[in-house]
Amino acid sequence: MSGFTMQLNEDQQTLQKWVHEFAENVVRPVASEWDEREETPWPVIQEAAKAGLYSLDFFANVWGDETGISLPLVMEELFWGDAGIGLSLVGTTLGVAGILANGTMDQIGEWVPRCFGDENDVKLAALAVSEPNAGSDVSGLRTRAVYDEKTDEWVLNGVKTWITNGGIADVHVVVASVEPELKARGQASFVVGPEHKVADGVGLRMGQKFQKHGIRASHTSEVILDECRIPGSQLLGGKDKLDERLARARERAAAVARGEQPAASKSKGGQAAMATFEASRPSVGAQAVGIARAAYEYALEYAKTREQFGRPIIQNQAIAFMLADMRMKVDAARLLTWRAAWMGKNGIPFTAGEGSMSKLFAGETAVEVTEKAIQVLGGNGYTREYPVERWHRDAKIYTIFEGTSEIQRLIISRAISGVQIP
Ligand SMILES: Cc1cc2nc3c(=O)[nH]c(=O)nc-3n(C[C@H](O)[C@H](O)[C@H](O)COP(=O)(O)OP(=O)(O)OC[C@H]3O[C@@H](n4cnc5c(N)ncnc54)[C@H](O)[C@@H]3O)c2cc1C
Repeated sequence: MSGFTMQLNEDQQTLQKWVHEFAENVVRPVASEWDEREETPWPVIQEAAKAGLYSLDFFANVWGDETGISLPLVMEELFWGDAGIGLSLVGTTLGVAGILANGTMDQIGEWVPRCFGDENDVKLAALAVSEPNAGSDVSGLRTRAVYDEKTDEWVLNGVKTWITNGGIADVHVVVASVEPELKARGQASFVVGPEHKVADGVGLRMGQKFQKHGIRASHTSEVILDECRIPGSQLLGGKDKLDERLARARERAAAVARGEQPAASKSKGGQAAMATFEASRPSVGAQAVGIARAAYEYALEYAKTREQFGRPIIQNQAIAFMLADMRMKVDAARLLTWRAAWMGKNGIPFTAGEGSMSKLFAGETAVEVTEKAIQVLGGNGYTREYPVERWHRDAKIYTIFEGTSEIQRLIISRAISGVQIP
């Protein structure tokens, strides 16, 4: 019988060390600067591409690890360096995941390399799902995709919002509604290339760029689709598959209208957007673990050296116990992300919402631990002279994007109870 181990193998240890060194030597020193500039840190992305850390090959290797643990390892180390820059480096993988989850082999081969570009000409990708009126409830997407049979083109119209790398990406994966009355089952994913990007007029363009509370080095903006015509071949999965899926969804809707129990869904998870989010939750959780660990380590060192009442503040149980709790939660969050990543990679279904658990717990841990780190640092923690206030601002997004904490609780409670909690 093969033994159980929590020990990382040699490849994983090497990877972890390499990414950590990049985070420590390249990312951390410029983290505060890019946070203040609120701009995409192109020089860091270029340096990562030159080092081999921003490329299709790199992510393909990491995804290829059959234990599933390499991806959370990379995320934790990068985001330990800085979350805003980290997201600028891995935001592309959201678009890539959208292509991998829904595309044919030909589409994957054509589009995924274009998401990264090469070390001399780096590119970004984006995944555009959310809309002003459809955040947690993506069944209500209003962006429409209409097929023009005469030209074999899809025409996209709508407004997407809060899109990471929105408008600055070369490749946008856009989820749109083909048959709104079928709600989420009537949606499909489309890939929009740079040739359809415009500064003004018809096509895809960037709308408002948002100024944010945290992860400010990561670009977030609206994406406007105005009569954006793309070739029929850019419907991910292809038209035949979509037509079959829509036919099934219509039958299902008709059965429900007749008051019958619909047949179980044959699709992986049904909805295009959900399939993408489900797979990425443990690695998003690992990003939050990285932020939390950074804050915990910083607070621990500070508590050992800062003296009040003639002794280091760590000699007060109030501070020492706070640090003990911080460490325990960081470790627990990491274990949940590793478990979910391992399950996901090995095709073990998340019967208790384990993917959601990992993202939920890690996100809330990051908020709690970074807040405690400010407390440990006292007045210094509250100023921009020290990094913990930035980490606290960065951490908060982890209870909001990729499914809010409330939505994760909904998924977990439905999974464990079998009850369709509204
Ligand atoms: C910085 C940033 C980057 C992002 N990047 C992307 C991206 O790249 N691509 C993309 O498509 N989207 C992206 N998003 C959007 C993000 O996924 C949404 O903001 C998120 O899903 C929440 O949607 P919402 O903001 O509309 O909140 P709402 O859905 O309006 O929720 C508001 C509040 O109501 C609660 N709530 C809603 N429904 C329920 C319910 N049924 N039960 C209990 N509570 C409920 C929520 O938990 C939340 O607390 C990004 C957002 C931000 C801020």
